[in-house]
Amino acid sequence: MTVPLPVRPNPRPSEPLSSYAARLADANGLSRSRILVPWRHDIDVPKAELDSVAALGGLDADAARRLTMSRYPLAIRGHGQQRRHGWRLHHAVVWICPACTIRTGHTDLLWQTALMPVCLRCGCYLVRAGTPHIVRPAHPRVLELADILRDLAEAAIDQPRARGILYRLRRRCQATAATVQDDPHGAELALPVVDVTAARQWGAYPSPDPGTVAALLLLCGRRLAREQRQRPAHSRRHQAGEFTPADQARLDWFLTRLRHHATSDGLHPRHVPALLPLPANDDAPARRPGQWLSLTRAAVALHLLITQALDGHPTPEDATAALGVTGIPTSLIIDGIHTGSGLRDQDADLLSRALDALLAGGLADYQRRRDTLRAVTRLPSSTTRRLPPSTARTDIQVMALGWIWTRFTHGPMRSSPWPHIPDRDIHAFDTRIDPETRLLLHETGQQLLADTDLLTIPAAQATWAGVTRRYG
Ligand SMILES: [Zn+2]
Repeated sequence: MTVPLPVRPNPRPSEPLSSYAARLADANGLSRSRILVPWRHDIDVPKAELDSVAALGGLDADAARRLTMSRYPLAIRGHGQQRRHGWRLHHAVVWICPACTIRTGHTDLLWQTALMPVCLRCGCYLVRAGTPHIVRPAHPRVLELADILRDLAEAAIDQPRARGILYRLRRRCQATAATVQDDPHGAELALPVVDVTAARQWGAYPSPDPGTVAALLLLCGRRLAREQRQRPAHSRRHQAGEFTPADQARLDWFLTRLRHHATSDGLHPRHVPALLPLPANDDAPARRPGQWLSLTRAAVALHLLITQALDGHPTPEDATAALGVTGIPTSLIIDGIHTGSGLRDQDADLLSRALDALLAGGLADYQRRRDTLRAVTRLPSSTTRRLPPSTARTDIQVMALGWIWTRFTHGPMRSSPWPHIPDRDIHAFDTRIDPETRLLLHETGQQLLADTDLLTIPAAQATWAGVTRRYG
């Protein structure tokens, strides 16, 4: 029986097993070969080996399965032991991103196929490992097509129609590769250039040169992009709430990740504040009016997701009520999760970074803080006595309590008992008070929260029972 390693990073979307094994080894100060034999490719991995990596990384079967190419159909991963006549590149051919692989180790399962000659994160052409690393921005038409191919690859896992499209596209590319001359696009700038020698190598395996593959895809896949563009604007994905297969897969992946944290870290919906934290390394834009709304919607989304990961069936109304923001307008991120349709890339990125920040901060029980502070309508007299005379205004009670609310619940004023007070008033109050007053209010907040713990245990339990009832 393999015991999980102490540090267990999460697999990234579309991360290959070899990359995950390297990160798992690094995180635990082990050599990669202790996790996975060095000659293993991310396909046809013996079950015992995959099970062992999964056990070491604490992954469930679904998360482990996503690390290899085995879930893709033969049309993509190729036939027979040698995995020929599919989209898969020859084992000896390794494509990397000249912008991010060397710096961060980032790589992607689809980079092992000719379906993805670009890095969609960096927007540049991939290069063959071992060749000079020049970062060349990819032509927008190539990026558009790569985006379509990524979705088709995901769809091909269970849809014969997508499988057929990819099969025919490969046959067209192979035929074109045998006859194409250099410079097939004329002099149009930044279009990928064909290396005729590399093109002619397309046989049992695709051409080994990413630029040549990009040019061939563009020549043969024009129709795919045109069809995508011609779809009526109102039905184009995302705009009308339509999600792609990749969005659907991303949602599944995110739920898998949350289940993992629920098991290993005790993650629960009560750990979600009503404003998701902005990552500290963002160019933290000064809070714009109304900015709370997008971060609060993201909080509602994360609340829904964690509840779903714990096998609950929440409605958006349940989540907004728990966060104290009943009645806020809904959005695509919330609808996609509620209906199980999908999670867009940029939304997953925001949620993922916020989740990392919450985990790194040690998971505070924000539901308890909200429940506790909501019941507080007056400052303790011990605090009022010590406030400096300069702050003696009629609204000092509300301002001070609002300050404590935003600090300790990490929620907008919209979630507080004073929803009509804008956040900027609290911010202005914060800049007005001196450091001693700030310290006094901070201690008061700590005391209010701690007092409930220490003195009113039955009431706290009642709250807990309420939370448990609501979220199972
Ligand atoms: Zn990249």
